[in-house]
Amino acid sequence: MTIEPTVSAPAVSTPAEVALRDLATADSLLLALDFDGVLAPLQDDPSTSRMVPQSAAAVEALASLPRTRVALVSGRDIATLRRLSEPPDSVWLIGSHGAEAELGDSAAHGDGSSVMRSPELTRAEAEMLAAIDAHLDAFEHSLPNAERTLRANAAARATGASEPARAGGSDSTVRAASTGGTSDFLIERKPYSRTVHTRGLAPEAAAALHEHATDVVAEFPDIRVIEGHDITELAVKQATKGDGIRLLARASRPTALGCLGDDVTDEDSFAALDELTEARVLEAGLTVKVGSAQTRASWRIADPAAVAELLGRLVRERREHVGTDHG
Ligand SMILES: [Mg+2]
Repeated sequence: MTIEPTVSAPAVSTPAEVALRDLATADSLLLALDFDGVLAPLQDDPSTSRMVPQSAAAVEALASLPRTRVALVSGRDIATLRRLSEPPDSVWLIGSHGAEAELGDSAAHGDGSSVMRSPELTRAEAEMLAAIDAHLDAFEHSLPNAERTLRANAAARATGASEPARAGGSDSTVRAASTGGTSDFLIERKPYSRTVHTRGLAPEAAAALHEHATDVVAEFPDIRVIEGHDITELAVKQATKGDGIRLLARASRPTALGCLGDDVTDEDSFAALDELTEARVLEAGLTVKVGSAQTRASWRIADPAAVAELLGRLVRERREHVGTDHG
């Protein structure tokens, strides 16, 4: 499942090189930030992901500035995203790749808008989700070789003293999915999807697990397979992060929109931003890819540390433009 990074445009820029002027000087700025791999470094155990402290500080600073809205746009379900990111009140959240939204009221911005979206599963979607669960539960029985690898991996990890608990997450349950409780692949249960995390597994085990997970699509072609950094996600709603970006733009009506993401799913965000710019809904847009994978974004920076630096720069330049009052 690991794909060799393709050297492709745009080249990696330093945070100091990215052109921030249009965002810093915008009449009204919306900043849409992916969480995992952008604000928070990727973790073997996804329940331990936290923002880089400098990025958390920058998000808080930006969110407190006038005519400046920050939104987190994530594949995580919103409850988990909120718990892991601990965002300031005025930060808007898009979760489950655009299927969920919490765009709360914010007196500081005076727009009085409040959009909450967390749609019920249709019966067909509930059936697909049940089929995904049954299919994933059957994994150990169907792939003995991968199982052995996974068990070995689990045993190795079990000796690590600092290994955090892997079962029983509160909002979205992250569990060791196995009949005997010994295998160590992680299934993140979200309202509209299941995410299989393979980070840290031997490549052949990860590939076998990915292959098994996606088999279920043969029976249920409406299941959407989302492949990301060491994850395979099976989703029963068709929303994308692009839908999330369009919703944010309608609710916030920014003149400029900046969008940072590291994964394949963020390309939908970048595409939505480009459409809004082309349609002159936006005066300015900035797309920034984090990491080395193929992208349609205009800029590329290296990693979450570079994100922290870039956001810190944006805080300084935006603050200079809008001042620090909450007008
Ligand atoms: Mg990401």
